Amino acid sequence: MSSPWDLHSHSTASDGTLTPAALVRRAAEHGVRVLALTDHDTTDGLPEAAEAAVATGVELVPGVELSTVWEGVEVHVVGLWIEPDHPALQEGLAAQRERRGARARAMGERLARAGIPGAYEGARALAGGEVVNRSHFARYLVAAGRGRDLGDAFDRYLRQGRPGYAPPEWVDLAEGVGWIRAAGGTAVLAHPGRYRLSAGRLRRLAAAFREAGGAAVEVVCGSHTPAQVQAAAGLARRHGLAASVGSDFHAPGNPWRELGRLAPLPADLTPVWAARAPRAREGVA
Ligand code: AMP
Ligand code: MN
Ligand code: MN
Ligand code: MN
Repeated sequence: MSSPWDLHSHSTASDGTLTPAALVRRAAEHGVRVLALTDHDTTDGLPEAAEAAVATGVELVPGVELSTVWEGVEVHVVGLWIEPDHPALQEGLAAQRERRGARARAMGERLARAGIPGAYEGARALAGGEVVNRSHFARYLVAAGRGRDLGDAFDRYLRQGRPGYAPPEWVDLAEGVGWIRAAGGTAVLAHPGRYRLSAGRLRRLAAAFREAGGAAVEVVCGSHTPAQVQAAAGLARRHGLAASVGSDFHAPGNPWRELGRLAPLPADLTPVWAARAPRAREGVA
C-alpha cells in the first residue's frame, strides 16, 4: 500500500520532527515522487525542502495547512501549489501565527496554574521557531513525566475541557480559502473524518467549503479509517470536489502514518493533481 503522491506532511518548521531536507529524503526512500510540505500556518520550510527535492528527484508541491473555524468547529484546510511569497497569504499566515503565539502563552499560564510551571518555555524550546502548537506542549509534558505518550498528554492536559486548553481564534473558513486562492493555490478540505461531525453537518461543511472556492477533499489520509475514506469519497462525489491523498506525516515511528503509506483513491474520483492539470499546462505554455 504505497502511493507516489503524498500531499500532506509536516517538518520542524511547524510540529514535525524531521527537518524539511530530511523529510524530503525520507519521502524519496519511501517511494514518494510528488510530496507536498504543508506545515501549520507557515511556509518557512519550503526553500530548504525545494533544495532537497532537486537533489533527490522528488517533485515538491509548495503547500501550507491552515487552521480555520466554521460554525464553531475547527476545520483544517490544506493549500497546494501556492505561491509562497504572495503578500495576501503571508499577511494572513502572520496573523495566524500571532494568534497561535497568544494561545500558547495562555496555555502556558493555565498549565502553570495546574501545577506545571515552565511549559510555555519548554514547548517553545522544542518548537525552535515561531509556530508553537499543542504538539510541542505534548512533547514537553511527556518529557516532564506528565504523560505516557503524546495522546495521553493530550487527554490529560491539552484537549478541550482539560486544564491546559485555551480556545484558539482561527481565521474563518471562507477567508482562509480566499488566502490560498489569492496565492494561486488549490484549497483542500483536510481529513474530514477527524471533525466528529454528523453526516448531515459534514455535507453542509463540504457545501460551504465548495461555495468558498474550495476545490478538493482529502479522501485517503493517514488518520482515516476505511469507513471514513468512503464517507470522504461520498463528499467528493456529492459536492463535485476533486480528491486528495496525504499521510499527514509528523514523525518517524508511527507505522500507520508513514510517508507514502496510503491506499489508492477510489477509481471514479478525480485526483486533485488531474483536476489542476489544465491550468498548470496553461502556466507552462
Ligand atoms: P494546535 O494547532 O495547537 O491545536 O495543535 C494541534 C496539533 O496537535 C495537530 O496538528 C496534531 O499534530 C497534534 N495532535 C492533536 N491531537 C493529538 C493527539 N491526540 N495526539 C497526538 N497529537 C495530536
Ligand atoms: Mn500537527
Ligand atoms: Mn490537520
Ligand atoms: Mn496536518
